[in-house]
Amino acid sequence: MSLPVHTPLAGTQSGPATDPALDAWRQMNPKQQPSWAGTPEHARVLSELGTLPPLVFAGEVDVLKSRLAAAARGEAFLLQGGDCAETFSAATADRIQARVKTILQMAVVLTYGAQMPVIKMGRMAGQFAKPRSSDVETRGDVTLPAFRGDIVNGYDFTPESRAHNPQRMITAYNTSASTLNLIRAFTQGGFADLRSVHSWNQGFMANPAYHEYEQLAGEIDRAVHFMEACGADFEALKRAEFYAAHEALLLDYERALTRTDSRTGLPYDTSGHFLWIGERTRELDGAHVDFLSKVKNPIGVKLGPTTTGQDAIDLINKLDPEREPGRLTFITRMGAGKIREALPPIVQAVRDAGAQVVWVTDPMHGNTITSKNGYKTRRFEDVLDEVRGFFEVHRSLGTVPGGLHVEMTGDDVAECLGGSDPVVEEQFDSLYETVVDPRLNHAQSLELAFLVAEGLARR
Ligand code: PEP
Ligand code: MN
Repeated sequence: MSLPVHTPLAGTQSGPATDPALDAWRQMNPKQQPSWAGTPEHARVLSELGTLPPLVFAGEVDVLKSRLAAAARGEAFLLQGGDCAETFSAATADRIQARVKTILQMAVVLTYGAQMPVIKMGRMAGQFAKPRSSDVETRGDVTLPAFRGDIVNGYDFTPESRAHNPQRMITAYNTSASTLNLIRAFTQGGFADLRSVHSWNQGFMANPAYHEYEQLAGEIDRAVHFMEACGADFEALKRAEFYAAHEALLLDYERALTRTDSRTGLPYDTSGHFLWIGERTRELDGAHVDFLSKVKNPIGVKLGPTTTGQDAIDLINKLDPEREPGRLTFITRMGAGKIREALPPIVQAVRDAGAQVVWVTDPMHGNTITSKNGYKTRRFEDVLDEVRGFFEVHRSLGTVPGGLHVEMTGDDVAECLGGSDPVVEEQFDSLYETVVDPRLNHAQSLELAFLVAEGLARR
């Protein structure tokens, strides 16, 4: 079948959107940008990016926004998970599949615990740019530019690798496209069948270290069998919606992928469904807040322990002046020792202003420590304690705990300490792989899902 030549397809137009408001950030001295601006190579890459197809469609982005609106009301729960920094070399079928599998496994457990839909979202297919506290890294007597993520430079500690190379934006786009293609194939092609996901979880439960979750696992098992016995439509359960998210750090890249939606004439950043602003780039008058205030995607803002109630209100007024359901998610990352004091005034201010955001806990970024043998790590106990604090605060204020944001992988790495089948420091020398922050491994991720599900079930 061929389409009539002049029938416009509903979706997103090719070529970058042209509204000059989308470029106001350029005058705002954006933080955390590479040093490549102004080179001919940089200009050539941006114009090439502008001609490439969108990675996601505006219609999908709108569906996600409606799902997040449900999470804000307490009728759905958001699970965001993936690498701190994706790398080009780890974008292999095995690793992508392992991560998607682990997120789907966590989601089944959380769905049962919460008794509501879980919105599944990867820090995937675009999570390539990292903010750094220092522009340089020194090893011995050699100082080189800091690693800023594969979209900017390489991790190898050589001058060639650490040079900022705009061509990497094209590789990031292509790697995102192939990652998304595989995610779509896995989640739409029958791989995500509830019964398969459930049987993977039984594999996890076979390890006696996790016997304390037997009751919950048994309940889920009976629920799946009950549905089967009733003749539930497993065809419908063969597919899962899965969304792609990343930190919108590299504004040139995000701008080049911002397109006009042909249905509405409005700009969407088509580099991913959901974009967030990091803790280091969330100033109210900063470039990142300005740029994201002008695209229609659902967006997140990371909030650390210095955030005030007024900061939160100001961000809402700037990023969600229309109070659009599902538009804004606050991802709090306070640290286990601080969340019970730092979170309540922020949540109270937002509640009292009558605004509705999705409240998500990131129990990773406030709990980073250095191990005795010199690795950047996090304790599973601290991660869990921050999640507990998050639920306690929302319970006491009568607000909605809407989601969980974790750095995790589907592989058996050793980067975070502890868990019931504990990771210990001695394993770091052989099994520590992350290029930036430590991730929960496959088993720690599932264990966290069981513990959060128990908390949700008690809610
Ligand atoms: C991250 O999510 O990897 C990150 C850098 O987080 P934050 O902005 O919260 O520090
Ligand atoms: Mn991180």
